[in-house]
Amino acid sequence: MKDQYVYQTGTGLYVNLTNRCSNRCDFCVRNYDADKTKHHGFAGYDLWLDHEPSSDEVVAKAAAALDAHPETEEIVFCGYGEPTYRVEQLCAVADFAHERGLKTRLNTNGHGNAINGRDITDDIVAHIDTIGVSLNATDAKKYDAICHGKWGEKSFDLMLDFAGRCVKRGGNVVMSVVDIIGQEEIAKAQAIADSIGAKLRVRKMING
Ligand code: SF4
Repeated sequence: MKDQYVYQTGTGLYVNLTNRCSNRCDFCVRNYDADKTKHHGFAGYDLWLDHEPSSDEVVAKAAAALDAHPETEEIVFCGYGEPTYRVEQLCAVADFAHERGLKTRLNTNGHGNAINGRDITDDIVAHIDTIGVSLNATDAKKYDAICHGKWGEKSFDLMLDFAGRCVKRGGNVVMSVVDIIGQEEIAKAQAIADSIGAKLRVRKMING
């Protein structure tokens, strides 16, 4: 099914707000169907959007999904793009989640301030219970080599600055790396997370 902006995985209701992204990560699940014909999808869903949904559209679909899945515990902002491109809609949907007694989680590349041209971390911390920031690498060069951020090697510092600001504002920040980087890099990643007061999660590599 096309235009999937709300999808269910386990006890999480996932919201896919945009296909825009400031990175072009080598490992992105979008790469497995970049030509949009050999579609593998993600968790069985087609996450390429025909349009970016309004918050009202998302809330309507989410409400229906909650009726069908009363086991839902959280709304997760995650999809084929960087959710903070749509910070206003993200906050509106997060308000709906909290009204329904659900937790909220954001999976972000940490470029939200650079994308919006302003510091959005107040809004993020006020609306998101768990802020997952993809660390991906342990320095700017390595990050650029695999994530190809819009701001070149600065993209790494922009991400770290965002994560640090969220921590300072009291946010629950969980940075992540994938397990294939090896123990030495994982230790460095832990040190980076520790240095800004964030947690670190080591994720399993997803192979499309
Ligand atoms: S930041 Fe996320 S959505 Fe963007 S290219 Fe990387 S993995 Fe894909």
